[in-house]
Amino acid sequence: MALRCPIVSVLGHVDHGKTSLLDKIRRTRVTQREAGGITQHIGASEIPINTIKKVSKDLLGLFKADLSIPGILVIDTPGHEAFTSLRKRGGALADIAILVVDINEGFKPQTIEAINILKQCKTPFVVAANKVDRIPGWNSSEGPFILNFNEKNQHPNAMTEFEIRLYENVIKHLNELGFDADLFSRVKDTTKTINVVPVSAMTGEGVPDLLVIISGLAQRFLEQKLALNVEGYAKGTVLELKEEKGLGKTIDAIIYDGIAKTGDFLVVGNPDGVLVSKIKALLKPKELDEMRDPKDKFKPSKQISAATGVKISAPDLDSVIAGSPLRIVPKNQVEAAKEEVLEEVEEFTILTDDE
Ligand code: GDP
Repeated sequence: MALRCPIVSVLGHVDHGKTSLLDKIRRTRVTQREAGGITQHIGASEIPINTIKKVSKDLLGLFKADLSIPGILVIDTPGHEAFTSLRKRGGALADIAILVVDINEGFKPQTIEAINILKQCKTPFVVAANKVDRIPGWNSSEGPFILNFNEKNQHPNAMTEFEIRLYENVIKHLNELGFDADLFSRVKDTTKTINVVPVSAMTGEGVPDLLVIISGLAQRFLEQKLALNVEGYAKGTVLELKEEKGLGKTIDAIIYDGIAKTGDFLVVGNPDGVLVSKIKALLKPKELDEMRDPKDKFKPSKQISAATGVKISAPDLDSVIAGSPLRIVPKNQVEAAKEEVLEEVEEFTILTDDE
């Protein structure tokens, strides 16, 4: 069974390091020359499973991870509305989440807000306990946390301080919110216990561990959800509306299921209900070496398949708003898609009325 990439979003309190961690994840490469690094999508980056396996080769044995997902698709905008408040629309978007918590500062209002959203959406998540390099005396270095976490590399006082901060600032708060949680290397049953992965977005410590844990969780819990629907039409969500030179208003979207072709119809929610527009082009970012003119950043694709980020060029997109559900369908399926989209929009209205 072919699986698609799980969609991963990063949430957490402001300044706890979401942007820095994403940058570090995006720069995950084994060596500069190695082929198959990170593929840039619209609004997302795809990290192939081979890259994950290589950076975490020392860890795979530990977790007995048998990974057959093609990679992970990480949303570039941390805490994007479409993945937080608008995610309440009920549209399945992020398959899995990374909740970033500063291990020195602990839980803050937006940490709790993020957890409530994840709970409500039943999105599995791991906690990235960030800024371990700032634990007094901690000797932080790039690479797996698990190889750095021992008396040979750390002063006993730093080890003690780490345990205190891990418990007081992270695990205790998760317990209070009803979650069992532990340091990932001590977790025996991932169906019951939240994995806490210590990381440093500054040194890169723990990033391999984080990528393996995310991949392993996705593989184990989402296999059915990730079965690639090669027959079906594309389902997605609007990330944002962008004006592009020569194209006018375009939609940046994440496609989480199915397949889309140029010439299909876009069916997307808008404040009046639903809008239908004939697609002019499905655009992907050009590789840097293909980009002769910096204004000419995109190239058209005849067909795209989930999970992917895409820029949609079509007429009359002005009324579309971020977070709206969308479908890309052949003409004979427009009516069915309209109903589906309307249903999703209504679900959202009911939810917000309750709040
Ligand atoms: P965001 O608001 O959650 O996206 O947080 P940022 O990524 O912008 O980080 C906030 C501040 O914390 C910035 O000054 C970062 O350089 C710093 N920072 C982020 N991660 C780390 C880390 O792991 N270690 C240290 N020492 N600083 C960090």
